[in-house]
Amino acid sequence: MPVSELVYSIIVYAFIFLFGITIGSFLNVCIYRLPKEESLTKQNSHCMTCGAQIKRYDLIPVFSWLFLRGKCRSCGAKISPRYCIVEALNGIIYVLVFMYYDFMYSPIKAILVCLLMSALIVVFFMDWDTQLISNYMVLFIAILGILDYLRWQFELDLYHIDDADLKSRIIGFFVVSLILLAIELLSKGKAMGRGDVYLMAAAGLFLGVKATVAAFFIGLVTASIAGLIIKHCTGGSKFAFGPWLSLGIAICAIWGNQLADLYLRFAGFIQ
Ligand SMILES: [Zn+2]
Repeated sequence: MPVSELVYSIIVYAFIFLFGITIGSFLNVCIYRLPKEESLTKQNSHCMTCGAQIKRYDLIPVFSWLFLRGKCRSCGAKISPRYCIVEALNGIIYVLVFMYYDFMYSPIKAILVCLLMSALIVVFFMDWDTQLISNYMVLFIAILGILDYLRWQFELDLYHIDDADLKSRIIGFFVVSLILLAIELLSKGKAMGRGDVYLMAAAGLFLGVKATVAAFFIGLVTASIAGLIIKHCTGGSKFAFGPWLSLGIAICAIWGNQLADLYLRFAGFIQ
């Protein structure tokens, strides 16, 4: 690769990272304010300990936290590293998604997958904290699914994309959500929340049937492992399924069809 091209790539990906951590900062706001039904646009972030308003120059994603070494400038109280982790995670995921799709697929696909990943980060941490899945996030994911279908319609002849067609997305909407709904009703909401049902329905519109089933299996396996570890470490029984479903959806938004085909081939269903 010529040097000029390399420099150009580095600059582009640096901008994508900065954009990603800025959105990540907004995701933190969503994670903390959506459960309390507070306004997302209201300004004035403040220290959770002393209540001091955080100065604008201390609100730079990732870098402010690192510069202040995770402490409040006024009172010195520790600020959770999770703020920084959520911002950095979103930035890194944006870079990786763009690297994966940009030239191979289409930039529009990359943008839609980035937005999906951001919504899943909010679902992951909010459900972890509160055992609640925001209906706004679920609705947002459903809208992304519909936009992804429209993109596929327009780009079908331009790119060779192994994407879900309309039938697959509609079946994807029901295939896992109906099973979860049955479990939710039979267990009277103890084994499963209604939020999990809606999440898998919305994800189905984005993923299509094969990747939705794959996402559900990854969710089940990781939830079982995480459940055992959490029970062993804390002895607690409070456990959310949503974070692990989100993880499965995130993986399968990119590799769902390949993973499903791999399994089907392994099981001997296809050649
Ligand atoms: Zn403080």
